[in-house]
Amino acid sequence: MTSNIVFIGLGNMGLPMAQNLVRAGHAVTGFDLVPASVRQFADGGGLVSDDQAAAIQAADIVITMLPASRHVLGAYLGDAGILAQARPGTLLIDCSTISTEAARQVGRAAQEKGLPMLDAPVSGGTAGATNGTLTFMVGGEASALAAARPYLDVMGKAIFHAGGSGCGQTVKICNNMLLGILMIGTSEAIRLGVANGLDPKVVSDVMAKSSGRNWTLDVYNPCPGVAENVPASRGYTGGFGVDLMLKDLGLAVESALASGASVPLGALSRNLYSLHSKAGSGALDFSSIYQMLGDKA
Ligand code: NAD
Repeated sequence: MTSNIVFIGLGNMGLPMAQNLVRAGHAVTGFDLVPASVRQFADGGGLVSDDQAAAIQAADIVITMLPASRHVLGAYLGDAGILAQARPGTLLIDCSTISTEAARQVGRAAQEKGLPMLDAPVSGGTAGATNGTLTFMVGGEASALAAARPYLDVMGKAIFHAGGSGCGQTVKICNNMLLGILMIGTSEAIRLGVANGLDPKVVSDVMAKSSGRNWTLDVYNPCPGVAENVPASRGYTGGFGVDLMLKDLGLAVESALASGASVPLGALSRNLYSLHSKAGSGALDFSSIYQMLGDKA
């Protein structure tokens, strides 16, 4: 069945996710503030429009993939927001990584308007978005997830129902705190081997088959030239930005303060990515933290 989908946010993740929905035969109208991203979407068979409100009114489903809480609140709430435009019953899916609190605020407002809404942040990086192998961490009503599943299946391969509204965001923040810590640990370990005269590929290959194995070693090696098709081997471009990781670690620390949990490594990692960003690397992929841990000249 062909559905009429509006997809808002055609960035590193949103563009390939929306393209997969197009390839699956859906009529997808894409929106982004960056005209070049919209053109790229149109070149791949996506629909474009100058009238976002009209597109939302005609949509069966609206999917958003935006940077942070404030963008999502801005997109959904207010007189010109998605909630004001959508027809009753339109399914809303926010795939952005935002605070649990912001997700619940939008979820409550959607419910008041009779609009089923899911928070459905993802894991798997730009490769997962391109290959349709993302993991979705979903918060919201089971009935809304049942309606969303055929579309999530096109973009991902693992779909978890974490609980009610906001729960997808909570588990996503736990995962990304761990990822941020693992990327620094992996970078440190490779750097230590290199400083002692080892080939970074040998160090990586051994650790990937030993007890230090983790996702960053498997598919996202931070050392340039060790793995193909990863941000480190293309100047740390086109992946998951340092500033987005910094945002997620900030969400983790806020969540820990609110709940009384202890996150010593999460807090330290947030500070390291913060220093890296302040040194001018905010727009680079987060694996560029490897550069910050460089050897002495
Ligand atoms: P991105 O910055 O590449 O893309 C976000 C896009 O949203 C940009 O193109 C921007 O122009 C657009 N945008 C912002 N406000 C808009 C608005 N009001 N209307 C239309 N477009 C708007 O970010 P990304 O890497 O695609 O990440 C998106 C979200 O997914 C973030 O919350 C991020 O934390 C999360 N995420 C990213 C990755 C990754 O590997 N990049 C992985 C998992 C989750």
